[in-house]
Amino acid sequence: MSINLSKKQQALSQLKGNPIGWEGKTLKQMRQDMDEVSRSTGHYAGLETLPFKEANPIRYEKIFAKLRGGVVHARETAKKVAASPIVEQEGELCFTLYTPEADSVVTSTGIIIHVGTMGAAIKYMINNDYEQNPGIADGDIFCNNDCQIGNVHPCDIHTIVPIFWEGELIGWVGGVTHVIDVGATSPGSMSVGPVSRYDDGYQVACRKVGQDDTLSKDWLIESQRSVRTTKYWVLDEKTRIAGCHMIRDLVLNIVKEEGVDAYKDFVREVIEDGRRGFINQVKTLLIPGKYRQVSFVDVPYKNLNVPPYARLDTIMHAPTEVTVHNNGKFEIDFDGANRWGWHSYNATPVAITSGIWVMMSQTLIPNDRVNDGAYYASQFDLPYGSWLHPDDIRTAHSYSWHFLVSAWSPIWRALSRNYFARGYLEEVNAGNANTSNWLQGGGINQFGEIHAVNSFESSAEGVGASAVKDGISHAAAIWNPEGDMGDMEIWELAEPLLYLGRNIKPNTAGYGKYRGGSGYESLRMVYGAKDWTMYFMGNGYMASDCGLMGGYPAASGYRFEAHGTDIKERIEQRLPIPTGGDSDPDYPEYEENMDAKEIIRDKQSITTETVYENYDLYLNYLRGGPGFGDPLERKPSMIQDDLNEGHLLPRYAEKVYGAVVTQNDKGHYLVDEEKTSLRRAEIRKERLHKAIPAQQWMESEREKIINKEASVQVRHMYAGSFALSERFNAEFTEFWNLPVEWKLTEDELEVPVFGAKINKNPS
Ligand code: MN
Repeated sequence: MSINLSKKQQALSQLKGNPIGWEGKTLKQMRQDMDEVSRSTGHYAGLETLPFKEANPIRYEKIFAKLRGGVVHARETAKKVAASPIVEQEGELCFTLYTPEADSVVTSTGIIIHVGTMGAAIKYMINNDYEQNPGIADGDIFCNNDCQIGNVHPCDIHTIVPIFWEGELIGWVGGVTHVIDVGATSPGSMSVGPVSRYDDGYQVACRKVGQDDTLSKDWLIESQRSVRTTKYWVLDEKTRIAGCHMIRDLVLNIVKEEGVDAYKDFVREVIEDGRRGFINQVKTLLIPGKYRQVSFVDVPYKNLNVPPYARLDTIMHAPTEVTVHNNGKFEIDFDGANRWGWHSYNATPVAITSGIWVMMSQTLIPNDRVNDGAYYASQFDLPYGSWLHPDDIRTAHSYSWHFLVSAWSPIWRALSRNYFARGYLEEVNAGNANTSNWLQGGGINQFGEIHAVNSFESSAEGVGASAVKDGISHAAAIWNPEGDMGDMEIWELAEPLLYLGRNIKPNTAGYGKYRGGSGYESLRMVYGAKDWTMYFMGNGYMASDCGLMGGYPAASGYRFEAHGTDIKERIEQRLPIPTGGDSDPDYPEYEENMDAKEIIRDKQSITTETVYENYDLYLNYLRGGPGFGDPLERKPSMIQDDLNEGHLLPRYAEKVYGAVVTQNDKGHYLVDEEKTSLRRAEIRKERLHKAIPAQQWMESEREKIINKEASVQVRHMYAGSFALSERFNAEFTEFWNLPVEWKLTEDELEVPVFGAKINKNPS
């Protein structure tokens, strides 16, 4: 009843050209006022006190619990509408409630990076006067996946619905799912092939796609003709709409029960409350000061099948300086990040900042009060023109995660040094895994349909070690705190790829007193496919994290694929075939049970589309997490368990841990405690013998820098950082005591140069 009434009133009010915001304001005016009052007072919405919470604490908590419970419930219910295993099995979806100005009030579980991205999309609509044209009315449905407006990568599709009460906009609800295919140049959700926006797939820039709760026919037709996996696309969209409408009903019911004024007071106060809560956490858990750290990832494109100007090997650079201020303010400065590139790993400011909140919800703010309050309590400095803040609309973003995950790993280390110093040892985390490999590709599947695949087994990587225990194995991904590797049976339905094995991957965890969590591997055989291609993506030449306090980084990846195998004949003749894991690639076992025309095992862990025939093999190798502390301090009994449970190969137990290992007649490994302790004393002496003073080492490095003796990818990376930041350049010059005339520029390098500065991006 009330919705119908409100629609009539709203239609009347819009006929008169009345604004839809509060107190007769336009949304744009509300947004500007909110920024102004929050900036000038230092409190969200100027709230120096929380009168509603203080006067009615129980009522306040009741409203919070209803909203949070309802939003989580909407996610759990709506995901059952989806058929895509990415959504239904892995939970790659999320719903968030916003204020009229697009500040987030409360969010569901799941891929909560989109709290920020959908907020950015709504702000874009507000700032571009959508209120006047195309208009914002009750029952409207908007869609966005444009990265530079507000997204991480194009395959995360947003559905955004306004919530009206008696003609007035009282909020927005956004829902997002990660779709299997977005119509990019190569099949899959996060293609490696794209090097520019125009290869990145179907892009929808904050478009009104429905009215009166009904999707427009032209939208349904166009969008379904633009992607490969139509059926999943349609059901994903129904999932998002179902969740948004459940949350809209929830909000309207709360408004009916509590009154609209109470609701309005609540949404303001809960954000200011979130801001204060974040500051309290910073003051309680961290120590004022500056924390500096860095990470890198390889971009090995020289020999890839991409346009000529993109064919170069380079490295992405993410230095960070975290400043914890005395007043609890939290600041992250990425000064020194290098230039964006012709690859699909560029990111946007909202992707990097929102992603940091995903991470924070797993460490500094481990509760359900994640909203824009934390954003108002912090500051990010993101250099313009860098890979995380491109100055050019042409950039591709389809696999932003290649470096986002590595750029955040050092921030765990910054926080962990604080926790360690405070004595919260169990909160220490050596970092996060590089969440790869991504098995992707497509063609015609086992049901004769046009299909794309995007295995989300990567939701279960190894976790970093803490200061009191090992990291959890094959368990989590930084971008989805509720990740799950999924059931093999479901993946076999969704992909024409049979499982020949799924095993813990030895030596993937970073070594240490406490090791990282191990990764795992799945051996897949193509079966029932036609016109089928796949590719690999992940770090290969470089470890993209770093251990903490003597712990090792997790292993970098490698690729295994086999083409033209004799597995079909072997199955017919009932001969053994490859199964299980590629547990020691230096001593390969698959080849003992198979002949193949071509077997590739190398460090090139990023490839573009390769053709796969039935009975070809693809190894999906999921990375481990970094380690904590000196491996020589690891308990021998833990090394013994690692050996017997398949986490560690014996020769590394000896080499890295100094363990003295024997095997009994049942094949069980034993680590001799006494002999190990003697061997460790020797290793400590060897370390002293090998070591040189840091000053001496710096002298020899300095010579190499002056003579520019570094691989082209290292020089290209630094030249891209120097070009964007005089401060970084000056600091580097001073630190290495370089001659003032020393310079390193992008033009002097023997790499393709293509990326002229443009005058203006379209708005
Ligand atoms: Mn995504």
